Amino acid sequence: MPKRIFTFRQGDAEKTADAVQALGHKGANLALLASLDAPVPPGFTVGTHAWRETKGAAGDLPQILKTDIGEAIEWLETVTGRRFGGDQRPLLLAVRTSAGAPMPGLAESVLDVGLNDATVDIIAAELDDAAFAYRSYRRFIESFAALVFDADLAEFEDLCDLESERVGWSGEPRTVLEWRMLIGRYHDFLDRELGVLVPQTPLQQLLEVIRASFVSWRSPMAASYRKLHAIPENAGLAVTVHAMIFNERDHKSGRGRAISRDLSTGEARLTGEFALGGRIEAFDDIPETIDLGQLVAGGAAPFPAVFADLAHHVRRIEAHVGDAVEVEFMVGDDALFLMQSRPARRGAGEAVRVAVELVSDGIIEPQDAILRIDPASLDLLLHPTLDRAGEMTVLARGMGASPGAATGEVVFTAERAQALANEDRSVILVRNETYPEDIHGMHVADGVVTIRGGTTSHAAVVARGIGKPCVTGAGSLRINPETGRLHAGDKVLKEGDQITIDGSSGEVIEGAVALIRPSLSGDFAILMEFADTARRMGVRTNAETPHEARAARSFGAEGIGLCRTEHMFFEGDRIQAMREMILAPDEIGRRRALDKLLPIQRSDFIELFEIMAGLPVTIRLLDPPLHEFLPKSDGEIAETAGTLGVDEAVVRQRIAALEEFNPMLGHRGCRLAISYPEIAEMQARAIFEAAIEAGERAGAAVVPEIMVPLVSLRRELDFVKARIDAVAAQVMEERAHRIDYLVGTMIELPRAVVRADTIAEVAEFFSFGTNDLTQTVYGISRDDAANFLSTYVRQGILERDPFQTVDVEGVGEMIAVACEKARSTRGDISLGVCGEQGGDPDSIAFFEETGLDYVSCSPFRVPIARLAAAQSAIRLSRAGRGRARR
Ligand code: PEP
Ligand code: MG
Repeated sequence: MPKRIFTFRQGDAEKTADAVQALGHKGANLALLASLDAPVPPGFTVGTHAWRETKGAAGDLPQILKTDIGEAIEWLETVTGRRFGGDQRPLLLAVRTSAGAPMPGLAESVLDVGLNDATVDIIAAELDDAAFAYRSYRRFIESFAALVFDADLAEFEDLCDLESERVGWSGEPRTVLEWRMLIGRYHDFLDRELGVLVPQTPLQQLLEVIRASFVSWRSPMAASYRKLHAIPENAGLAVTVHAMIFNERDHKSGRGRAISRDLSTGEARLTGEFALGGRIEAFDDIPETIDLGQLVAGGAAPFPAVFADLAHHVRRIEAHVGDAVEVEFMVGDDALFLMQSRPARRGAGEAVRVAVELVSDGIIEPQDAILRIDPASLDLLLHPTLDRAGEMTVLARGMGASPGAATGEVVFTAERAQALANEDRSVILVRNETYPEDIHGMHVADGVVTIRGGTTSHAAVVARGIGKPCVTGAGSLRINPETGRLHAGDKVLKEGDQITIDGSSGEVIEGAVALIRPSLSGDFAILMEFADTARRMGVRTNAETPHEARAARSFGAEGIGLCRTEHMFFEGDRIQAMREMILAPDEIGRRRALDKLLPIQRSDFIELFEIMAGLPVTIRLLDPPLHEFLPKSDGEIAETAGTLGVDEAVVRQRIAALEEFNPMLGHRGCRLAISYPEIAEMQARAIFEAAIEAGERAGAAVVPEIMVPLVSLRRELDFVKARIDAVAAQVMEERAHRIDYLVGTMIELPRAVVRADTIAEVAEFFSFGTNDLTQTVYGISRDDAANFLSTYVRQGILERDPFQTVDVEGVGEMIAVACEKARSTRGDISLGVCGEQGGDPDSIAFFEETGLDYVSCSPFRVPIARLAAAQSAIRLSRAGRGRARR
């Protein structure tokens, strides 16, 4: 027969398996503190098993439980030396309800159970403080009536006001007589209005409170909370009953909150507050709290021995739970009581510091420190955040597409962004959506807002790459191109007006909001070292500019997993050479323009190889459709025609010919290399020449990885690889220099997944382009998804945005299938992922399970990925499913 009741007192607690479920989190915590010899008030917990026996019934408690409670009270009377309802030193009790986890809607605590018309006077005499005793009695009647009779507390307030008017006191009664009259009014009111009375027998009071606490499981708020958090209906609650501490009595009593560490340094030093005397509800409300650190260190405390004792117990609890703890305590009659402990609440930076200090103090292992930190919280350490202390007017809410906060003047074009940035002004670039030609504006802007697009839109991908805050899909904004105004509801902004954006929450805010700059501590680096030791998967970065590559290296990237070469064609006169190539009527013309791009590409690659200093660099051949590079506005078309010396009509014709109506599924990826092999050849030549040169300069060979995008047929890859191999042979002969290189492909299309075994016969590596793979598996255009995906998530049709977190059941399954097929024909094939999900902690857990070799993500997500990869490896290995490093 499972036990119904579990007693606890300092140094001793009756044990049970799965204490948190069996005793509720409050009961389990008090039992833990008691077993650690902390000075808890003695008491007992009526466990969830007893609740289940009664089925949380509204009727009377079963006799067997009443008998058990009676016995527990006798035990408590012996331990405390007080009698429940006794005519000397009566025992008073606190009753606290809790389930396995905090749950709104459960019964509030009821204090001073045991007070009645007789014991109140005995307590008054014992404490020599009638007002205190009667105040407690009034509070008890109110909370009893609210819990047991469902009485409205406002009615008691009205009664108080009436009585105060009638008798002439203000605030509270002045004499015992006045108090008795007020209590009499309470009794009369309950009798008259509800036909009930608060029992005068203490045991009856306690049984009623326990019964009503049981029933609170069924409150609508608790029921809907359980539904929301999938908490089983029969989990049940527990009721903890313990002796009252007279902590509010005089200047020598009080309560406080102590934290085992200084959270700003991680150092083991008691901090917190202590408030003396008075009726104390919440620490935050109390102006004259005392700094615990000073109390303990300065020795000037009213009771130094009590605080030395507190420091000792807090240290013990911390060592036991292996984490910084926050303890609520009371001091009464010169004695210390611990009421509850929990992990100390802390910010991201504090969490890192504390975890690392706990390791250096030998309290936890590095692996535990790794598991303590939420990888996503590192974002807060790497980017500025908003100071939310003041009022803010939110103009629009979109998607948090790239974290961090920024303030600046509104501009609507990349050119204006550039012009204002040249004057050292901070700007936020606001566009309907961005195109590759906007990249230079994004680089100089402090932040980017787009009205359309989701979290893998061009703006989002580029902003994450360069570490700029970005909000996408801010659909309630409207740019009026004629007036050059930005409309946000009834607010109208013009160029130059200040706005602030939060790229984590997706808010666009009016005016300049103060920002909090992050500071990276040495502890952050230590945590990252722990993570690197624990993880199996590699972490590379998606980068194409030297700036991004350097940033990624400083964040610990182990190579480049995706260099999107198209991003290299927009700066300066490169775009003109590119346009010349696209507008050329034949191959000869194209080759002439490509000759101009070759040295530019070569020197870009040399720089990347040098920054990456021997680490792998995966360069992807040109991927987007060519129309993306052509001018859009009339002015630009005229300018392009002028620069290239062609007729404007020719430019327009070419634009019309290349126009596509599709969600990026047209003439792009390897299809370009097949239609225009000379483009791929130029890029391959630039890569090989750069690899030779960078290798010679560094005195160590560079092994480039050339990646072919959007392959669905093995023959596509055969075709492109043959061109690449031919160029390699030529360059090696010209330079009389042999180099090794790899040719691989992206897996972004369902057909490529299904044919992964045959494609792997040609490809030396795969990199899953989960942006396109998600787009093509779902048939959802990634640039238009924002319009309806949020509705899907809100309606619960999708749990998460699959462009942010890999859809394990669909896209994930495809990845797993492709990996298996690929390994069946090429056992040692290198497998990575370079879509945006590569930097998402939950997706990383899936990639670890699938056994991918590396993830590649934007530079600012590299630390997040390192930590998430370590956590996934540790969790899998603890579950006995760990993988060896390959
Ligand atoms: C992808 O599709 O996942 C990918 C990395 O390529 P891009 O985003 O450039 O299409
Ligand atoms: Mg792609």
